[in-house]
Amino acid sequence: MTNRRSLRFSKRTCPICGSNEVARDESKGDLLCTNCGHLIVRDDGRSVGKFEIAQTVKRNGKMDFAALKNATGASDSQLYSVIQNMVQMNILNEIGGTYSLTKKGRRWYRQRLGQEWGY
Ligand SMILES: [Zn+2]
Repeated sequence: MTNRRSLRFSKRTCPICGSNEVARDESKGDLLCTNCGHLIVRDDGRSVGKFEIAQTVKRNGKMDFAALKNATGASDSQLYSVIQNMVQMNILNEIGGTYSLTKKGRRWYRQRLGQEWGY
């Protein structure tokens, strides 16, 4: 059985294998990785930003993905993409699935905190 005709490729990448062959299933609205078969359920968590993640990690020390997800209430895919972005910016460090702020990350956080408070 093939339902490939109903799939349309999306711009997302797969959080599991990193493939960009992620297709949208028009009937359900879910995203399906055609490489590894991972189903990315449509975002229903709330939106989370870099500052909030930095704050959460700073408050709790080292955190893994599940703990971050728990603390922020973000969806898997959204949280994952923000984390990836932070790792690329070198403000978040990932060692064996555990995240912590880098030195640069702590500085970045303090700067942002200053902006929040308006000084
Ligand atoms: Zn995949």
